[in-house]
Amino acid sequence: MAKNTGPACKLCRREGEKLFLKGERCFSPKCAFERRSYVPGQHGRSRSRGGSATGRESDYAKQLRAKQRTRRVYGVYERQFRRYYGKALKARGITGLMLLQILESRLDNVVYRLGFAASRAQARLLVTHGHFTVNGRRTDVPSMTLGVGDVVAVREGSLKTTYFKDLASVAEARTAPAWLERDLKKLSGSVLRMPERAEIDGNLNEQLIVEYYSR
Ligand code: SF4
Repeated sequence: MAKNTGPACKLCRREGEKLFLKGERCFSPKCAFERRSYVPGQHGRSRSRGGSATGRESDYAKQLRAKQRTRRVYGVYERQFRRYYGKALKARGITGLMLLQILESRLDNVVYRLGFAASRAQARLLVTHGHFTVNGRRTDVPSMTLGVGDVVAVREGSLKTTYFKDLASVAEARTAPAWLERDLKKLSGSVLRMPERAEIDGNLNEQLIVEYYSR
């Protein structure tokens, strides 16, 4: 279970940037951040994002915000995020990049990156409803991590639903990253390799996350 049940738009306002958590709405004038970009709450307009009285962000506040922002972008709870960090620490390679690669290889993220959902939240919902298979086996676990060669596909029984009938044309307008191979005719995709840093959201600061957990 890694689901935030509160209003997603508040998270963007809290972080001071658009986290694109609600699919198409994020690109429309209805986006809450476009209308009210200050921190949510009664004193939001007068509060600094760092939360200090002087308005200057401490190193700790910066590290915490970087961690929270990343957690919110991928919709992961603290405990699971910490587990991912532990896994990244043990992996061979740069810890920050390893952490981002683990997050990117989650099934809900891959479904989103393939263009089969408008947001990670929607991808998670589609997965939990059992609409996808991994290597031919049905799964409803959005946190499942995929490796090179794994194949994600829309379950045959789900292809008849209105959403999936129209999906190929909708997904065509969304570009898939080069580390994934997509087959819109079959509504499937596979992991060719792990993403490079340049292929992951540039607004995320993994170095600050490493500093946060290394305190
Ligand atoms: Fe964030 Fe999207 Fe809500 Fe805008 S519409 S505030 S980008 S979640």
